[in-house]
Amino acid sequence: MSEDCIFCKIINGEIPSTVVYEDDQVLAFNDIDPQAPVHVVIIPKEHYESILSVPAGDDIISHIHTVANRLVLKLGIADSGFRLVNNCGADGGQTVPHLHYHLLGGRSMQWPPG
Ligand code: ADP
Repeated sequence: MSEDCIFCKIINGEIPSTVVYEDDQVLAFNDIDPQAPVHVVIIPKEHYESILSVPAGDDIISHIHTVANRLVLKLGIADSGFRLVNNCGADGGQTVPHLHYHLLGGRSMQWPPG
């Protein structure tokens, strides 16, 4: 837990969110500024600043991908396609320094991203 982290505050309930999935390792909630009809943020409950902070052998990234697989089925975007995105660092577009993946779906995506 990191004191000034908004995602840690979402985990402990200080900041409200619309939770779509939760287990002992992970929380997933609707993005406050959705960029697609489905836009879910998936975060580990343990505070890692980014994917670069995850120790080798830790299975959290694998678990997040498993959760994303479950969510695409639950949210009905498996057949049409979706995007699972991790922005890392300033040039990667990361604004919240708590490891997270964006799950986006419900519209056609463009490539390359801006
Ligand atoms: P970016 O803001 O450029 O998308 P990130 O990859 O760091 O950068 O994503 C942070 C995401 O967290 C943003 O999509 C933002 O809308 C979302 N977000 C920030 N605060 C909240 C909140 N209180 N509840 C839900 N989503 C939030």
